[in-house]
Amino acid sequence: MTTRMLSPSPPRDLHPFMDSGSRPQRYTLCLTLRCNLACSYCYVTKSPITMSLSTARRALDFIYSHAPPNGSIEIGFFGGEPLLEFPLLADVTDLIENHPSYDPTRVSLTLTTNGTIFSDASRIS
Ligand code: SF4
Repeated sequence: MTTRMLSPSPPRDLHPFMDSGSRPQRYTLCLTLRCNLACSYCYVTKSPITMSLSTARRALDFIYSHAPPNGSIEIGFFGGEPLLEFPLLADVTDLIENHPSYDPTRVSLTLTTNGTIFSDASRIS
């Protein structure tokens, strides 16, 4: 798998992470820098900063316009602890799935969580 950061792209023939094969392009959305833990090894600078829905919308436009045509896209929710912002996570998931370029056969979602606040309410169907 390859990973791309959300930043302006160089020309495709110069981009070291571009892959025209079958591997998904991976994008990470850092929903929040908040976390309910304080792991000693953590590299996240904790902050009450949370992604706005308008930023998420712009990021998704970027993703859908820069991903290789017909290629697989993996969008990962990250933090901090993204489940602390569950309503935002649900709203961004709606944005992803209601985007004009959304194709369920191409797009998969992942979540990186510390697993401490899972509940029935945090399930997205
Ligand atoms: S759960 Fe993750 S983000 Fe939170 S303190 Fe631990 S390593 Fe950092």
